[in-house]
Amino acid sequence: MIPPFKLIQAHSTSDAVAELRRLGDDAKIYCGGTELLILLRHNLVQSDYLIDIKSIPELGSIRPANGRVSIGAAVTHRCLETDPTIREMLPMIASAESQVANIRVRSQGTLGGNLCFGGQAREARVGGLRFGLRLGR
Ligand SMILES: Cc1cc2nc3c(=O)[nH]c(=O)nc-3n(C[C@H](O)[C@H](O)[C@H](O)COP(=O)(O)OP(=O)(O)OC[C@H]3O[C@@H](n4cnc5c(N)ncnc54)[C@H](O)[C@@H]3O)c2cc1C
Repeated sequence: MIPPFKLIQAHSTSDAVAELRRLGDDAKIYCGGTELLILLRHNLVQSDYLIDIKSIPELGSIRPANGRVSIGAAVTHRCLETDPTIREMLPMIASAESQVANIRVRSQGTLGGNLCFGGQAREARVGGLRFGLRLGR
């Protein structure tokens, strides 16, 4: 069973950052939850507050610009697999994403969660290094 927590809906990145500053170590960012909910369920992490960033519009977009692609942290694996821009500009990423886990995990798990979670061989991290991933605000 997952211990009780308070879910805070962030509506913008500045909202999320302000909540993180206010709550400090008592809070965790929550996106797809594919990793975090397992950790909470097994008591491997504790958190009184989860700050939900899934609905922040700027984190859910994929935008091409000057031969590069800007991908929001809340974009899911499934979206990277199926998005026409990714398929055209980064077909190997789209193909690699189609191999991640299963459709349920791909539909929930996000790029930001993949990069931020501490696992070693995460697809986005490995693919990102190969394709010159740059992290920005
Ligand atoms: C059964 C299963 C199979 C899997 N198979 C694969 C696989 O084949 N390949 C692979 O690469 N991965 C795999 N994963 C891992 C998982 O799908 C990815 O790591 C996923 O992208 C995590 O994203 P999330 O949004 O669910 O993260 P969450 O569970 O929401 O968060 C994970 C961690 O990152 C933090 N976090 C999340 N988003 C942000 C952000 N924007 N900024 C700061 N911190 C953030 C959270 O606080 C938490 O600590 C698998 C997971 C499961 C459960």
